[in-house]
Amino acid sequence: TKCTKGGDFSKGELQRFGNIELSPSSGVLNYGQGLFEGLKAYRKEDGSILLFRPEENASRMIMGAERMCMPSPTVEQFVEAVKLTVLANKRWVPPVGKGSLYIRPLLMGSGAVLGLAPSPEYTFLIYVSPVGNYFKEGLAPINLVVENDFHRATPGGTGGVKTIGNYASVLKAQSAAKAKGYSDVLYLDSVHKKYLEEVSSCNVFLVKGKTISTPAIKGTILPGITRKSIIDVARSQGFQVEERLISVEELLEADEVFCTGTAVVVSPVGSITYLGKRISYGESGVGVVSQQLYTSLTSLQMGLTEDKMGWTVELN
Ligand code: PMP
Repeated sequence: TKCTKGGDFSKGELQRFGNIELSPSSGVLNYGQGLFEGLKAYRKEDGSILLFRPEENASRMIMGAERMCMPSPTVEQFVEAVKLTVLANKRWVPPVGKGSLYIRPLLMGSGAVLGLAPSPEYTFLIYVSPVGNYFKEGLAPINLVVENDFHRATPGGTGGVKTIGNYASVLKAQSAAKAKGYSDVLYLDSVHKKYLEEVSSCNVFLVKGKTISTPAIKGTILPGITRKSIIDVARSQGFQVEERLISVEELLEADEVFCTGTAVVVSPVGSITYLGKRISYGESGVGVVSQQLYTSLTSLQMGLTEDKMGWTVELN
């Protein structure tokens, strides 16, 4: 059965940013029936604005809505709404080199429901905010800690979709890690407690020579759009890319480790602490491969190089 009730996303309007009204018994507040997305708009040298693969975010929201028993906007409705919102907020897109406009689409069960059931009504909205670097380190390497007691997701759960509850489950471990001076947490799988999954808000990659490995998508990690893009970019540059099970022990042998995500872009990892032992990478600074992939991706996203992949959407 498809959960399509209560979802007509054919009409919308632009409103000033502000609080929204929601029933105290809405599906999102009571049962976590909510999904979000995250993408960025960059300013080009000529003043025009570039979106990066917005239809990928639309497809991921549609896939997530299916898992969360929610109706969703179509790819066309999603992309159109993103474009209209960005154009209405054009002046908030930072100048070249000064950051980007982060775009946050939200889909939620906004109708009232008392007993556990899908919401009878849904709301899709988008808000935006200018942003700079995600980690306070900027482009300097970040320091991660492997989490042994808490997991982000479990097989059959919702770890593979961008539902709001996934982020509630990482707050405790993330806060504890930050209090100890780490940038973020690296999660292991919840069954064997030995395979790498992902970080609270990004995917992870290991570099060894000309081979780049990243955990395979199998329902417990988010299929990142940056992850997918970096895999293609790396292959086009002659790297062998493997999507597979990666044991936590492999962290010891990697030349470089980096994370990918819309917010973090490509963030080099300087160290990972596992069972109290600190493993360091790129002693002399940012790893060569991480740097190369960062430059290739951001040049594309900012329109500094020709978009041979056809990934960017220009707004005027
Ligand atoms: N994993 C998680 C848990 C995330 O929240 C994100 C950010 N959306 C990612 C990975 C990276 O996904 P993307 O590259 O699409 O931003």
